Amino acid sequence: MNLAEFIIHVEAYNSNIDVGLVRKAYEFSDRAHASQKRYSGQPYVQHCLEVAFILAELHMDSTTIAAGLLHDVVEDTEYRVADIRAEFGDEIAELVDGVTKISAMQFTSVEEQQVEYFRKMLLSMAKDIRVILIKLADRLHNMRTLEHLREDKRRRIAIETRDVYAPLAHRLGINKAKVELEDLALKYIDADEYERIGRLLSERREERDQYIQQIVEPLKEALAKDGIVASVQGRAKHLDSIYRKIKVRGVPFEEIFDLHAIRVIVNTERECYHAVGIIHSKWNPAPQRFHDYIANPKTNGYRSLHTTVHGPGNKLVEVQIRTHQMHHVAENGIAAHWLYKEGRREMSRDDRQMAWLRNVLEWQKDLTNPSEFIEYLRMDLYSDDIFVYTPKGKLINLPRGSTPLDFAFQVHTEVGLHCAGAKINGRLQPLSTRLQSGDQVDIITNKNRHPSHDWLKLVRTAAARTRIRRWLKQSGFEQSATLGRQIVERKLKEYRVRMPDDEQILECAEKLDKKSPDELFAAIGNGSMATARLIQLIVPEKEKETSGFVGKVLERIRGSKGIRVQGLDNMMFRFAGCCQPVPGEDIAGFITRGRGVTIHHASCDTAMELANNHPERKIDVSWDTGKDQWFVVQLDLITEDRKGVLRDLTEAIADSNTNVRGTEMHTRDDSTAVGSFVVEVSNLSHLNRIIDKIKKVKGVISVKRARKKEFTD
Ligand code: MN
Repeated sequence: MNLAEFIIHVEAYNSNIDVGLVRKAYEFSDRAHASQKRYSGQPYVQHCLEVAFILAELHMDSTTIAAGLLHDVVEDTEYRVADIRAEFGDEIAELVDGVTKISAMQFTSVEEQQVEYFRKMLLSMAKDIRVILIKLADRLHNMRTLEHLREDKRRRIAIETRDVYAPLAHRLGINKAKVELEDLALKYIDADEYERIGRLLSERREERDQYIQQIVEPLKEALAKDGIVASVQGRAKHLDSIYRKIKVRGVPFEEIFDLHAIRVIVNTERECYHAVGIIHSKWNPAPQRFHDYIANPKTNGYRSLHTTVHGPGNKLVEVQIRTHQMHHVAENGIAAHWLYKEGRREMSRDDRQMAWLRNVLEWQKDLTNPSEFIEYLRMDLYSDDIFVYTPKGKLINLPRGSTPLDFAFQVHTEVGLHCAGAKINGRLQPLSTRLQSGDQVDIITNKNRHPSHDWLKLVRTAAARTRIRRWLKQSGFEQSATLGRQIVERKLKEYRVRMPDDEQILECAEKLDKKSPDELFAAIGNGSMATARLIQLIVPEKEKETSGFVGKVLERIRGSKGIRVQGLDNMMFRFAGCCQPVPGEDIAGFITRGRGVTIHHASCDTAMELANNHPERKIDVSWDTGKDQWFVVQLDLITEDRKGVLRDLTEAIADSNTNVRGTEMHTRDDSTAVGSFVVEVSNLSHLNRIIDKIKKVKGVISVKRARKKEFTD
């Protein structure tokens, strides 16, 4: 393609094109890249021309096309942004600058500094979305010519395309670019499968085309009879989507190749509904497969009616029905909006793609890990959205698989942070319930409820996850600092020493490489620093005297494992004597003054009391047990008073591979005896096995876990 041909093509897409500007940009680019060639051997400017052409196909404006021609000038030649500014003005210079900055990023290497790049990219997108459109066009052409690159480079670029650029194209609604990027990425990531699927598709093309005609013709007739002018066509499925169905969802090959797809394009929205009625009257619709994305557009702005019917020979046929306008938006996404509003820098606040972008910008403030960005981009890429309602009937749009917690955070951050439960369609349901389209969700809040680490497993949306994590980080630090201070205070009390003033503590903190007293106390509270190190600085002589005994005790507590407190291991904790929880049981943790965290059975009376009276002391805990860890449990029993019962019991317990730490048995009256066994178990099912064994011993009347009342401070 030369410049003259290029201009003819471009004018076909946009008759208002500023030919003078385009020509000038081409000549500048040609001069700047004069000495360079692509790996393919072509003059470099060819690439610039192709990129600009892809932008023209997206119906972009003259400014964007000119910037497309110039997009590599700053990156690859002697020229600077200032040169472009002098020649073409601010707008084009900003666009080229933005593209140059994004090009400096490589998304596959996961490093700390990448986060900063992401941020910059997102910000440049927000400033002017055309930057990312140029970058997408650039990437599309590079993918089309990827074969000329070295093998290792090909793979890296293909993976980056699959993980970042294709999802971006999807989020911006540019289906055209998304499909081609995905297929090209697959070609370089799994060449064998790519070829195999391609071959199978072409082998059956004729057969498929014939089948499609059996639907297309009668449908056209029926539509025409009702006065609807429609374009009805078979729709090719792209390779990557077939690949994913086979690989990820395990759908058998035959099933995929038996699935046919057609698209019906009509003039008005009304005709869409009319057409779907005609289709359903001719062929039986498959249940649950009708989706109205016209009334409820997808998050990326996509609108259409979808249905699946049983076609001739009872084969399933997927049908999409949309207007020409909807089709244009479905293919070109945000670029389509750009065209309609050419000349206006800001896009309408209602555009769904812009809503997405605004979300990303809000969310990127907490971005700490580039792989999260990728996850966020890909999140609902391959699944449909669901639509649920607030009690007031407001529609909320969520990715499939979302839970009431996702919903709560979507409604408002505060609602999410204090979510205590959810009613779905009027009935109380667990927070782990997956929402279905059409559900009405009512969130119950409680000001004393806060996020826990378990919540991270329940949410599907990145927005909710980010907010939970932010809260946990903040509150975890505060709780650790409070706990650390209490531990130190308690210790000092033993020596009859007062807590030093803030200035002295700050001095100690600095000696121990901590920036502030809070940081120092948090380190002690979360167990990453031994209390003794601080105590030694405050009361050197005292600590020495007693360090033997205290040290041992501390070591014993600290050395015990099996619980993660606030998601951290190494926290000081102990098991409450009252309820002796074992792994497999629900637990609750409470900060206990000076003794770290006490772990109770969740339904233990003491725990319930604490939760009511001191909700602020509740702390997030979970089991984290390894092999060979034992938990002491006391079992109280009543038996018939017969000879040998103790021996039988001991034997039964020993049979189940259990260590007995102690036994006690005495006669209560003429006929019964009471006693207790203290055993070591690894988890709840182990314990239940023992209890079952004991129950089977002849003469046993009852056996149950010991429950005591524990006093708390
Ligand atoms: Mn380029």
